[in-house]
Parts: sequence; C-alpha cells; structure tokens
Amino acid sequence: MSGTSESIKPEVRALRPYSLRPDRAAIKLNQNENPWNAPREIIEESLRRWQQRAWSRYPDFVPRALCENLAQFSGWPADGIIAGNGSNELIQASLMVTIRPGSRVLINEPTFALYRQIVTILGGEIISVPLDSALGFDIPRLKNQIEKSRPDLLILCSPNNPTGCVFPREDLEDLIESFAGLVVVDEAYHEFSRQSVVPLLERHQNLVVLRTFSKAMGLAALRIGYLLAAPELTREIGKAVLPYNLNALSQIAGQVAVENYEARLQPLVELICAERDRLYEALKTINGLMPVQSQANFMVIRSTIEPRRIFTELLARDILVRDVSAYPLLADFFRVSVGTPDENNQLIAALKEICT
Ligand code: PMP
Repeated sequence: MSGTSESIKPEVRALRPYSLRPDRAAIKLNQNENPWNAPREIIEESLRRWQQRAWSRYPDFVPRALCENLAQFSGWPADGIIAGNGSNELIQASLMVTIRPGSRVLINEPTFALYRQIVTILGGEIISVPLDSALGFDIPRLKNQIEKSRPDLLILCSPNNPTGCVFPREDLEDLIESFAGLVVVDEAYHEFSRQSVVPLLERHQNLVVLRTFSKAMGLAALRIGYLLAAPELTREIGKAVLPYNLNALSQIAGQVAVENYEARLQPLVELICAERDRLYEALKTINGLMPVQSQANFMVIRSTIEPRRIFTELLARDILVRDVSAYPLLADFFRVSVGTPDENNQLIAALKEICT
C-alpha cells in the first residue's frame, strides 16, 4: 500500500464504507422514506418564502426560528434543541464530543449501521447485544452486558432500524436511571410508533434524543434532523456542529413542515401505519414469507427463498427493496418500506408470483 494509506488509522482502513447500492426502480421501497412527496402546500409556501431571501447572505448561524418552532412542536425548550444537516450529522456530533480512544459504546444488533462506523472512526469500541429470537430488544441480556462491560455510552434505536421493535418505556427509564453515561435514543421513526421518549428528558439529564425530517416529515431531500437534550448537554454537543450547517432553504422548509404537520403530514403518517398493518397481514398469507411486526414505516420479512433472489426478482419487476441478509441475525430476511396503497398492492402481487 502507498504511504498515503498508511497515514490512515488502521481501524478506519479495516472498515467497509457505509454506502448504498445505486439501484433505481419505479417503486422505491429501500430507504424508509415517506412514499408521498411533501404536500404541495408545504412546497409552495417554502418556495414563496425562499424567493424573498437573498442568496448572497449566509443562513442563520444557528437556525433560531426553526428551533423555536421545534420547541413548540416537541414540548422541549429551544435552548435544549440543535438542528442539523440530517440526524446523521447529530449522531456524529454527539459521538465526537463523547468518544475518545478506548471508549466503550453499547448497541443492539442488528441496528442502524452508522453508529458502529462513527464510533470506530473515533477510536471507540463497540459492544453489541443481539436482539432476541423474536427480533425484539433483549433487556435482561442488555442489563447483564452493562454490568459486565460498564460501557461509557448507550445507543438505542427505537423504533429500531431495520427490525421496527420499540424499547419499552418503563425499561428505558430503569436503564437511564441506573446508567451513569449518556443514553442516546434515535427516534428517527417515532411518529409511526405514536410514542416518544421526549417526556423523559425533564427527569433525565443523561438522555439525548435524535429525530429527523427524512421519514414522517417527508423532507429527506432537504437533510434536516434535530437533537433534544438538557441545555448543558446541547451547549457541548453544539461545539462539534459546523457553523451554518443547515442551509437557508432547509431552515425555511423545516419551519413550514412543522407549521403544517397536523393538517398535512399527520394524516399521511396515519395512512402509512394503516398500510403497514395491511401489508403485514397480506405478506403473512404468502407461501414461505414470515413478516415481523413493526412499529415503524418498514418491516423485515423472513423468507424461505434466498433474500438475494427475492431482491433481484423484485428489481426485475421494477420494485426496489433492501437486502439486509448481511446484517447480524438477518441472513434469511429482506426489508421493505411501506409504500402507497398502490405500491403495496404491486409488491404483494409480485411476491405472490415469486413465492409460488
Ligand atoms: N437514524 C436512523 C435509525 C435511520 O434509519 C436514519 C436514516 N436511514 C437516520 C438516523 C438518518 O437520518 P437523516 O436523514 O436525518 O440523516
């Protein structure tokens, strides 16, 4: 290898990049996005406000107005909120200010791959606890592992990507109380589970909650996320966020989406939840498929046919799903995002054909 690559930390060289195959299809069910475009009213009002804005001027250093809207929306004060360029940026910022070489971070597996990636790059060590045989959180095992390895940080994804399981609220509160380090709860999909851990923030100074506009809010293209925690924590985590991290259009669109959530977005979330339950029931009746109940806008499905073949055969029918068979515990599974009713009907019909 060249001298250049020797300058790179060995733990980074050993990592595979976090990436996604660039496949395209008419029916796109591989990234847990909102299957509907953002409502017209939100797009038009955002563009109207955007047109009145000078392109030559920086956006706000800190998106104060958006944070005020988010405070009203989430019930947590604006000085305890950081807005970011997607919640990915805020996962990174939280880890940058906490992980030093040798820090131990406990996660469940399978889960969102970025946690392991960033912790490893920062020289931390991942300790993972597998989900249980029903793909739910294994709480006794998690508690045992905490006792045994005394991690510095705990990251819980709830609802968990890719399995859709939710961490029970009472267990979470027990865990936060008994744990000395920070507990990061990634709530990227909380709207679809109709519950949130944000009310626990008031009682727990060591809790950090992450949310995104990329799923229920229908704004994945604009890259907006936010973090909620005690103001003493957000003051520190904010030091790792770049100035002007959120561009002016995203700041505007984020505000407009929050203002229109109840009228325009929540009905779509309800529809997605109803479609998730319909899809689950329909997939259960297909030969060789065993869907796993989920509280998010996606689900994993165990298949007696190789997941790679399901992926390829669906792609041949212009339907893109996620092959998760390389994830721990998921060798026999693929993941689908919940689409529009028509997209779900086409998925069900295609899977019936493939699985006969
Ligand atoms: N957390 C989880 C659990 C996710 O699944 C995703 C996106 N796939 C993210 C965070 C990142 O979302 P964002 O688009 O806000 O960066």
